[in-house]
Amino acid sequence: MGLPIVAIIGRPNVGKSTLVNRLAGEQTAIVHDEPGVTRDRTYMPAYWGDREFLVVDTGGLVFNDDTEFLPLIRQQALTALAEASAAIFVVDGKTGPNSADEEIATWLRQQPVPVLLAVNKCESIEQGLMQAAEFWELGLGEPFPISAIHGNGTGEILDELISHIPSVDEVPENNEIKVAIIGRPNVGKSSLLNAFVGQQRAIVSPISGTTRDAIDTVVERDGQTYRLIDTAGIRRKKHIEYGTEFFSINRAFKAIRRADVVLLIIDALDGVTDQDQKLAGRIIEEGRACVIVVNKWDAVEKDSYTIYDYEKTMQSRLDFTDWAETIFVSALTGQRVEKILELVNIAAEAHKRRVSTSVINEVLEDAVSWHSPPASRGGRQGKIYYGTQVSTQPPTIALFVNEAKRFNDNYRRYIERQFRQQLGFKGTPIRLLWRSKK
Ligand code: GDP
Ligand code: GDP
Repeated sequence: MGLPIVAIIGRPNVGKSTLVNRLAGEQTAIVHDEPGVTRDRTYMPAYWGDREFLVVDTGGLVFNDDTEFLPLIRQQALTALAEASAAIFVVDGKTGPNSADEEIATWLRQQPVPVLLAVNKCESIEQGLMQAAEFWELGLGEPFPISAIHGNGTGEILDELISHIPSVDEVPENNEIKVAIIGRPNVGKSSLLNAFVGQQRAIVSPISGTTRDAIDTVVERDGQTYRLIDTAGIRRKKHIEYGTEFFSINRAFKAIRRADVVLLIIDALDGVTDQDQKLAGRIIEEGRACVIVVNKWDAVEKDSYTIYDYEKTMQSRLDFTDWAETIFVSALTGQRVEKILELVNIAAEAHKRRVSTSVINEVLEDAVSWHSPPASRGGRQGKIYYGTQVSTQPPTIALFVNEAKRFNDNYRRYIERQFRQQLGFKGTPIRLLWRSKK
């Protein structure tokens, strides 16, 4: 369930990238890879008020030119528009409307997406209004004079923009929990899947996806539906042919991306391997909830190896065991397999959880009272004005501060720990966005 996307469209040199950078503010480093879209566009997270969205620059759009790359750029713009909730059409207020703008406008009027018209390079208010007025003729409604460089007018267009994009709350609730079963070959993924299905005796329908990357099995328990995304099922044949199975990390990555909650299966006899660490890293990057399942617990010599010892070793090998629950099971005997879904429920719940702004600020106030933000050498101290949760899945909290760079990693980790200690969020990663108040 991604954030709404806003496509930035216009001729070359009108200031599209400047506008993208202004909207995205300090978040320039993050590149979002939304499921289901090609990977070559860069999505920048942006926010306005309590709304979060992704902006995507479509590259300069031109119609009446026969450069060989044009069809490609046009295709990019089309694809970007197809997945966008709204578009901002940027034009150059200094040069006034030209025929290329008109062509793009004609094309945009046929698209089923709300389009806002930004007349850029309008640095002075009075002149800007006059410059903007010339663009009424494009037939796209009110032209908004802005200066992407200085920020003039961007507030007005953003106010209008967010009335056209869905808020996170409006994204429809889907009761199904998507669970990916991930792990190296032979850790017991298929056995676990069979254990779930066998115990439930309530397969709704096995559904094979259009790709052969994963096979989904839908099971129901206590009124809750789970879609189990299994990456194991399809390689049965290869298994026989080659003896050992080829481990496709990309297949695992794809499954992680489709999931709400990832079951990271670890072989108790092998412990945490490099491949497990790699998978764990990806789960965090994708912001997925996670339950760590240590399988084949029946085969472990219990006298010498207690759960406590085992957990300690795991903690040093997996850096996110501080929030993900670990459960020790046996797919073979069925021991504790039932409990996995309980942990999945808890993680899925935390992943979707929304905390009120007042509670977040209570936690912040308390955290700051215990431990005030670091002061720089110049003596200016970091100051947190307030925080608010801007999205879920994973829970993402924006912190509005005087200057983000005053808050070092240590302090950022401290604040994250406070949120976890006070608010839980067991089983899900959380994200903090540090934003300088403009
Ligand atoms: P793009 O090709 O549409 O992405 O355009 P750029 O963002 O690269 O900007 C093209 C040129 O316009 C650059 O030289 C910018 O400095 C300039 N520019 C962008 N925004 C503004 C603005 O608000 N005012 C003025 N005067 N120039 C701008
Ligand atoms: P996958 O490749 O991850 O799907 O793994 P499989 O489910 O095919 O299991 C690989 C091997 O491990 C098989 O021989 C299973 O019988 C064995 N296995 C799976 N789960 C357990 C378990 O809980 N205990 C023990 N002792 N063996 C298991």
